[in-house]
Amino acid sequence: MNAFDLLYNFWTNVPLNMIITARVCMQISVFYNIILDQVSLINIPYYNMFMEENALLDPYEIRKDFPILERKVNGRKLIYLDNAATTHKPRQVIEAIVEFYTKYNANIHRGLHTLSQEASELYENAHEVLAKFINAYSWDEVIFCNNTTDAINIVAYAWGLKNLEKGDEIILTVMDHHSNMLPWRNVAKITGAKIKYIDITDDGILKYEEFEKKITEKTRVVAFPGMSNVVGTINNIKRIVKIAHEVDAIVVLDGAQSVPHTPTDVRAFGIDFLAFSGHKMLGPTGTGVLWGRRDLLEEMMPFKVGGDTIKDVTLYDVVWHDLPWRFEAGTPNIAGGIGLAEAAKYLTKIGMENVRKHEKELVEYTLKRFEEELGDEVIVYGPRNPDIRGGVIAFNIKDLHHHVVGKALDSLFGIAVRTGMHCAHPLHYRLGIEGTVRASYYIYNVREEIDELVNALKIISLQKEHIHEIYWKDVEGLICPTG
Ligand code: PMP
Repeated sequence: MNAFDLLYNFWTNVPLNMIITARVCMQISVFYNIILDQVSLINIPYYNMFMEENALLDPYEIRKDFPILERKVNGRKLIYLDNAATTHKPRQVIEAIVEFYTKYNANIHRGLHTLSQEASELYENAHEVLAKFINAYSWDEVIFCNNTTDAINIVAYAWGLKNLEKGDEIILTVMDHHSNMLPWRNVAKITGAKIKYIDITDDGILKYEEFEKKITEKTRVVAFPGMSNVVGTINNIKRIVKIAHEVDAIVVLDGAQSVPHTPTDVRAFGIDFLAFSGHKMLGPTGTGVLWGRRDLLEEMMPFKVGGDTIKDVTLYDVVWHDLPWRFEAGTPNIAGGIGLAEAAKYLTKIGMENVRKHEKELVEYTLKRFEEELGDEVIVYGPRNPDIRGGVIAFNIKDLHHHVVGKALDSLFGIAVRTGMHCAHPLHYRLGIEGTVRASYYIYNVREEIDELVNALKIISLQKEHIHEIYWKDVEGLICPTG
């Protein structure tokens, strides 16, 4: 028996009631924390011998770039499993932002002075980096905006209001995030277009045959997520594009979850628009990208207009600016864009294939450990096949409210997950559930964190009534905060 086994056995044999009662009653029980700190496996160098060989992506090395991972939460070392909501930022991204404000801060495209010229160049180069990241044809097809929601609103209004009319059809999916549903629904209301949905199987897989039957000559738009933020399903982009293009519908890919976690190639995909968020791929909050086919972007009416969107304005006329500026109204998030480019460079260095491989391994490992250790106590949603599942595991513990589980994971174990309906209410209604606990991974997550999650869930599940009694009052009434 090695040191790890000794510690593990010791910890798992400590009477559970004692642990929880001590923790809850005394908030920070010194004894409890000493034990848990000792089994905080990430702190134990020899635990690395359990690590699988992965020469190309070493999460232990990567972790060193993320200062926030050193943080303690509720007396425990932070285990951050809420990456589908937002990811942490490596010091390279943080430093790029600091450097911008320290050395180059000025408004872009407005000054002939040196700082403004330098800032403009840095910001334009950032577009170039993002264009390479998604294999766009050219940097000026890349529009920087606030986030995926913003990007989809731009397409829905700028393309939709010009091109849709009564009787046209927009096809969405039951698994869509509200950000890919509501803009299209609003535009449909204005234009008289009709919304149709592609359903999913009980395992969270799109019903492609149903899609083939539902699409008609009147379908003008097909919009769907590259990866579901709840059930984790990786959708078959090329299959959807082929079906949609047969009737000349445009394809809008919500890449909020797919771009940060899987390789993206807009040319190979054959899509018409792509929306994604910078903050979900190591970049700053308030950054996002809309990519579009040049011919479509050029014929689109600018949606938000004002400074920087024009070449000339007279009292009654306007000449719109070139791409992408005509869609980037007002002073943009310059530092954010530069930070986002740094994030894209960081991911490119690791390789998006490796990111996907790493997360697939974590998902496989989680599903296996859940089955072995929790059995029927845990209900997992989404496909069982890791080939079509990204690093997202939505689940429930039998007979325990998702918010209670989330609160207990945070308070007792320092594990950050998201709970609720994850801005995808229709998907939850389709699955017949009120909400889920969602663990979502990224490049810095390691197997040991999953072990800690599994151990924590075992304790929570064994202490169900007790846990409910303690935490229900904290979460009662929090029916799905913010979505
Ligand atoms: N689509 C999907 C699939 C998402 O997961 C999210 C974020 N959870 C969004 C859209 C919206 O992203 P943002 O909040 O960055 O606009």
